[in-house]
Amino acid sequence: MTVTVRFAPSPTGNIHIGNARTALFNWLFAMKHKGRFIQRFDDTDLARSKQEYANAILYDLHWLGIYPDQTEYQSRRFDRYDAAVERLKAAGVLYPCYETPEELELRRKIRLSQKLPPVYGREALALTPDEVAAFEAEGRKPHWRFLLPNFADDPANPVRTELSWQDIVRGDETVDLASLSDPVLVREDGTYLYTLPSVVDDIEMGVTHVIRGDDHVTNTGVQIALFRALGAEPPTFGHHNLLTTVSGEGLSKRTGALSIASLRDDGIEPMAVASLAVLTGTSENIEAVGTMSELADRFDPAAVSKSAAKFDPAELLTLNHSLLHAMPFSEAQDRLAVLGVTGDKAEPLWLAVRGNIDKVQDAVTWWRIINEPLPEAPDLDDEDREYVRGAFDLLPEEPWDRSTWQQWTAAVKEATGRKGKQLFLPLRLAMTGRSSGPELAELLPLIGREEMLARRP
Ligand code: GLU
Repeated sequence: MTVTVRFAPSPTGNIHIGNARTALFNWLFAMKHKGRFIQRFDDTDLARSKQEYANAILYDLHWLGIYPDQTEYQSRRFDRYDAAVERLKAAGVLYPCYETPEELELRRKIRLSQKLPPVYGREALALTPDEVAAFEAEGRKPHWRFLLPNFADDPANPVRTELSWQDIVRGDETVDLASLSDPVLVREDGTYLYTLPSVVDDIEMGVTHVIRGDDHVTNTGVQIALFRALGAEPPTFGHHNLLTTVSGEGLSKRTGALSIASLRDDGIEPMAVASLAVLTGTSENIEAVGTMSELADRFDPAAVSKSAAKFDPAELLTLNHSLLHAMPFSEAQDRLAVLGVTGDKAEPLWLAVRGNIDKVQDAVTWWRIINEPLPEAPDLDDEDREYVRGAFDLLPEEPWDRSTWQQWTAAVKEATGRKGKQLFLPLRLAMTGRSSGPELAELLPLIGREEMLARRP
């Protein structure tokens, strides 16, 4: 069977690096197993879901290097969920309940005071036809609960019912169905909660592996029971740990913090995001991995730790820096062109500066330094100024190449007796206005003799 995974966000906001982690785990898993990746939008909540968010999520996935084989929207599949509801009703495992939230809360408190687990007591199963008719006459609409298979003969007496699965991340997992309330699948107004549509889609779309956050572990117990109630074999599950900030807070789609869009706008490379999102909270070292297929080689669901994965966004810059260091011009070319870095000097400039910058756009700073007069005179004391003036008088004639620097500084050394930092630092300041940066041997021919002479202090 073809390995088939899905990434199933609700399109209610921009995805953040934690959501990207789930998407990437699925994508890498599919890559490793030559499988298929379905992009599924869990948009049954019509009020909160928006097409513009779905579009933005697709854009973010493409930017990261994820190209879904299929895209689905739950909002276009209500007939499928309605059909499943009818099947569950016919099987007697979906039952109407008329309690209001206040009544449920009161019952919960009573159960707690009796030292009973605060789960739903299935009182609705005991309603007589007259009682139901009375509720309906009052205008009450039922919500519908799934009867969990956690009892022998009498649903009012649940017994410990262990439901186990081999989780590809967490190993052996067990949920006791008697510790759970029968889940509401359909609300009073007829709208669906996530639980049922997700199972119907996983069945009908041939999903073989559900890889998602560990906030869904308990759901999985319920959903395995639902798969079986619908006559299907459950897929394989994997629940990965969630990313938190360094201070331990969860990430939220709503706040926009660490959204993929904001990282992109900030100049972070997709593979920096992917490397951090995938390798954090695993037994692998966090380092910049250059391509998705290398990352797939490094990815092993069983190596993902069970506890929450704290991650430090500051690492993104470090990873970015190392990715740029190794980035060929061909890969940066188009983005540099958009920034105005074009023409003959673009490639040598890129090769000169890529090891000294954190973001592609930082190349523009060096582009200006080689092409435009320096904005202010370098900060040199009188002695160094005299030294630099003399040194500039020794600049060789053109044509210049990367050996010119060596030739020039050998002559300067000879003439002045200076060496090391004393020799180079004042020259660097005069040439670039900065005390550090890329190799001067690379920059010198890019600045050119005429502009160099204009920089003679
Ligand atoms: N819409 C659900 C979520 O974003 C999907 C969970 C799942 O993958 O089943 O949490």
